[in-house]
Amino acid sequence: MARIRFAISCLEKQLGGQARSCPFCGSRETVFLERKHLLLELRRCPKCDLQFRWPKDTLSDNDGFYQNMYEEGAVTALPASETIALLRKTNFGGSPMDFSDRITILESLLPSGKVLDYGSSWGYAVYQLIRAGYDAIGWELSRPRAEFGRKMLEVPVEADWSAIERRAPFDGILSSHVLEHLPSPRLAFDAFFRLLGPGGWVLILVPNGGGKNARELGVRWGPTIGEKHCSALTASFFAKNLVTFGFEPPRFASRFGREAVSMLPWDDDLRKLEGDELLIAARRR
Ligand SMILES: [Zn+2]
Repeated sequence: MARIRFAISCLEKQLGGQARSCPFCGSRETVFLERKHLLLELRRCPKCDLQFRWPKDTLSDNDGFYQNMYEEGAVTALPASETIALLRKTNFGGSPMDFSDRITILESLLPSGKVLDYGSSWGYAVYQLIRAGYDAIGWELSRPRAEFGRKMLEVPVEADWSAIERRAPFDGILSSHVLEHLPSPRLAFDAFFRLLGPGGWVLILVPNGGGKNARELGVRWGPTIGEKHCSALTASFFAKNLVTFGFEPPRFASRFGREAVSMLPWDDDLRKLEGDELLIAARRR
């Protein structure tokens, strides 16, 4: 049903002549790269380097989608209370929601402080951040998931953006597999700058839209674009744009597995970032 609704909404936008302009910088000079499932186009903006899906989402598409329809296994399924008890006991170790590797990376940049998990789902990373000693809070667009986290994990997860703004400035922001779901990363970049104090760190994880699989398989590589993914983000996009939002030039890593975390020398040679996941760390000026 959800798929049919998405297809109809894409058709309506095509018939309605939705502009193929860049959802990030507004440039009209975007380039067609590839077609997916007849209805979708993967396009690239030469000005800001964003690769995006056309037809584009609007903010209201996005909000409705995440309140009602988005379901993707471990990421959004809400576990039973016995499962929660076990996850709490083990600090999520070995589960698909184990954030220890990401937290290790964050600790190398920011050993302690006030941290926001931007797009926190039901707060499993917030729980682990608190256990690691951070003063952590989550922001989650979906009200039912935010409420579930508050109730079942007893951690602060807010669906109300103003509650997050009242807690600013933060020392760090973690955003794991969120930006590719947004109609444009612009709102997030703005928010990161406004919410962080000077010298604060943002740690971003996204599917690597410029990695080996993405380059070789194009739209046949699942995470590029689709109903859930509005953009296929690359290191060059972040390198080009984060600095214009008040950040120092970002550092990059692309991981293949957990063990790679300990070997993380950040790699600024963007051509070497071949893995399926891209990690970006940027410090606010
Ligand atoms: Zn652009």
